Amino acid sequence: MASPQDTIAALATPVGTAAIALLRISGKDTVGLARAIIGEEPPIRTARRADYRDRDGTLVDDVLCTFFRGPASYTGEDTLEISCHGNPYIAQRILEDLIARGCRQAEPGEFTQRAFLNGQLDLSQAEAVMDLIHARGEKALAAANQQLRGALGRHMTKLIDALLGVLARIEAYVDFPEEDLPPEDQNRVIADIEALQAFVSKLLSTNHYGNILREGIKVAILGQPNAGKSSLLNRMLGRERALVSERAGTTRDYLEERILLDGYCLRLIDTAGLNPAPEELERQGIAKTLEIMAEADLIMFVLDRTRPTPVLPAEVAESLSVSRTLLVRNKCDLPEVAALESRWAGFELVEISALTGAGLDQLQSALTQRAKAFHVELGDEIIAINARHADALTRAKQGLDAAAVKLKQLEPIELAASDLRDVLEAFGDIAGKVDNERMLDQLFASFCIGK
Ligand code: GDP
Repeated sequence: MASPQDTIAALATPVGTAAIALLRISGKDTVGLARAIIGEEPPIRTARRADYRDRDGTLVDDVLCTFFRGPASYTGEDTLEISCHGNPYIAQRILEDLIARGCRQAEPGEFTQRAFLNGQLDLSQAEAVMDLIHARGEKALAAANQQLRGALGRHMTKLIDALLGVLARIEAYVDFPEEDLPPEDQNRVIADIEALQAFVSKLLSTNHYGNILREGIKVAILGQPNAGKSSLLNRMLGRERALVSERAGTTRDYLEERILLDGYCLRLIDTAGLNPAPEELERQGIAKTLEIMAEADLIMFVLDRTRPTPVLPAEVAESLSVSRTLLVRNKCDLPEVAALESRWAGFELVEISALTGAGLDQLQSALTQRAKAFHVELGDEIIAINARHADALTRAKQGLDAAAVKLKQLEPIELAASDLRDVLEAFGDIAGKVDNERMLDQLFASFCIGK
């Protein structure tokens, strides 16, 4: 990214016609700009009306300015927020004028990057800002809010402190290789490392829940043609709040809809029907179905109680596990033709009618139970790590495992100490005590401009 000395400016709201648009300025020239716009020393954290005139003195808009004196601002620097009328032309005129006055257009995520670099947020909190912007349900929102308030950072601080304690205890012996670690110290060090291993594993186990909160729970709806998959999808969309509708593309022969169910975001994916004797075209549909099944968190397999279950393509049958599948037997308003085949023994079953709505409550509570089961308890806090955290924690886990083995096998102590220093670095990466500029640029570039 360009120089952190620049004063940056950006539109913080989406481009488009709206009641209000917000522009943000941050950096050392902010006070001077604020003085020029407002016509006097800017009051701190107080909204002030002003006529925004460009450098030529032409009136652009009637605006509201709020000045934040650093470090008590989002970025930690002097910051000015300008609210203008939500006309993209006005916002653009103001932005161009700010650039003419010496500001630089901010890069995506640069405001948050400055907040991080100025110590206002640790890296996990900066990521939580992003999660907060994208949260699609109550649970995702709660997890993002806790992370923003430093929940993960606090766990990392505790882990780092505990690890530093272990390192302090063994470092003394690294300098005196002729002395062995006394057995009582060695036992204590191993016990401490085991405690660290256990906690790191626990944090790692929240990764799947994190995916679910960030992406939504992927529910694949499967079943033979005419079982009632589309009717069920429509019924569920009608009852719950549908979020987004994505029409199937030409190559993607399926439909995806999002609903909110008890605070969870569910991505319902209606697949192509499964035909027992696939022709070439059907083959492709099955390949796609298998792909969706592999990625799904949960499979709702829809059966038609007025027809015997068809023979499933072998690959599909093999991928249907009891733990990941919910059987939905549809058309319970009609008489049952044949009893449920024995192959379904052990599968959780809900009887419904997509036509009348009977059984939908039971189906919803079964789905909610499944969603809750993804949650990993970690005290009172919701911890749901992301892929970057999982990568660092996996490295930490490997280092702890290696150190434990070396200590138990009485290998030279400096070898275990070296593993533990790698662990320390991996822990540090999560909260962001890192000097890896490329990683930081990459991370913040995924934010939006103005954030
Ligand atoms: P899909 O091919 O699996 O998506 O099945 P559809 O949703 O298109 O439904 C196939 C047929 O079954 C349609 O004529 C629906 O009206 C009918 N159908 C779906 N659900 C029910 C139900 O619960 N009861 C009855 N009686 N008919 C249903």
